[in-house]
Amino acid sequence: MVRTRYAPSPTGFMHIGNLRTALYEYLIAKKNKGVFILRIEDTDQSRYVENAEAAIYETLRLTGLTFDEGPGIGGDYGPYVQSQRKADYLPHAKSLIDKNEAYYCFCDKERLDSLADERGLKKYDRYCKGLDAKTIQEKLDSGVAYVIRQLIPEGKTTFHDEVFEDITIDNAEMEDQILIKSDGMPTYNFANVIDDRAMHISHVVRGSEYLTSTPKYKLLYDALGWENPIYVHLPLLQNAEGQKISKRHGDASIQQLLDMGFLPEAIVNYAALLGWSPSDNREIFTLAELEEVFEPKNISKSPSTFDMTKMTWVNGEHIKHLPAEVFAEMALPYLKEAVKNPCVDYAQLAKITQSRVNFVKDCSELVDFIDMLRDYDIELYTHKKMKTNPEVAKQSLTVALEALKQMDEWSHDALSAAVTSIAESNGLSKGQVLWPIRTALSGKPITPCGATEICEILGKDETLRRLAMGIEKL
Ligand code: GLU
Repeated sequence: MVRTRYAPSPTGFMHIGNLRTALYEYLIAKKNKGVFILRIEDTDQSRYVENAEAAIYETLRLTGLTFDEGPGIGGDYGPYVQSQRKADYLPHAKSLIDKNEAYYCFCDKERLDSLADERGLKKYDRYCKGLDAKTIQEKLDSGVAYVIRQLIPEGKTTFHDEVFEDITIDNAEMEDQILIKSDGMPTYNFANVIDDRAMHISHVVRGSEYLTSTPKYKLLYDALGWENPIYVHLPLLQNAEGQKISKRHGDASIQQLLDMGFLPEAIVNYAALLGWSPSDNREIFTLAELEEVFEPKNISKSPSTFDMTKMTWVNGEHIKHLPAEVFAEMALPYLKEAVKNPCVDYAQLAKITQSRVNFVKDCSELVDFIDMLRDYDIELYTHKKMKTNPEVAKQSLTVALEALKQMDEWSHDALSAAVTSIAESNGLSKGQVLWPIRTALSGKPITPCGATEICEILGKDETLRRLAMGIEKL
């Protein structure tokens, strides 16, 4: 059974790199009809950040990455939390001592500090490894503070990673790392291994910064006589400045991205693309679609860069795919703010703006001309392809004003027919009529719909008024 876990330390908010890890864990589980769990790795209490846990739950909930099991909390299941499992770790460390794969260390801070070499690096010198059984027992009996250290054997350690393949490291590069700290808490590295085993984790997915720690994990699994999980280390994720994405560099949290107007489904989609791409290079996916197509073998080794422009495009694509009524509901407050005219049909405004915005809130600037025509430069009447300029515009607006005044039925079909006949009877192309009308009515180079639709939205009186103003300007 495939079982994966997202194992964040509650040291701050979740950024896009954290979400990518959670997402890939989730997808590997779902693709294989497996189980995805959440485990809060909070054994380093000094780095604990208030509210970080709550932010993790909220982000996972909003993005749809729901976890499948956990210990019962208030009748519901919650995540696994390492600090609540403190008692589970010490027996494993003691079993390693019994097997001569770990040892008690009583060295105090002063002694450890004195081990620093000229570069300030301290590698533990195994002083306590040499203590005899009697001395150890006496120290334990008299309550001397101790830690438990892993005994790193001589030789080399090789492990396999699904993305980075086989990696070998000389054991001499590793220190006898602490497994249990003097406060009785396990270190993050030890608790991580014990819990991955206890929770039957089949795939460990995490950032490539953990590649260097993995040999220590491998040695622990071997020492405990356990099979290693499958490792999937993800490529480095950089920000636009080429730095590793991190809370420290002020990179945006998922909450900030949501506040900026990114849809949760777009954030999830974009996170999926940071280091993975399907064989057909398709880019737009829902979470359910990702669950079908995600293949860890398509994860790349090369670093990927967080690109706000690309994510903005992905957001626009997801906005286009929203059901019209959902977009209309989201856009309504912005449209109401921009257009106060009570006669306007907001559902229609939502319809014409939906495919033209990258953020829902951008719909307002597309329609603000409806309430108020701002001053504009007459150069807007120039359009090379349409063969218009202020002079042509003056001529076509004059004939258009006269023709439109005569109209009784103010419908889209009637307006289109009128434009065709204005063009034909005055030796103008349709573009030479439509472009000036659109400009005179909106004062903008880009509008969410064409000239005749704008006439319809504004109504006859306002249309005629703006056409007359346009002629005057010219
Ligand atoms: N607790 C680690 C972190 O927050 C996760 C390490 C792992 O996934 O093995 O980055």
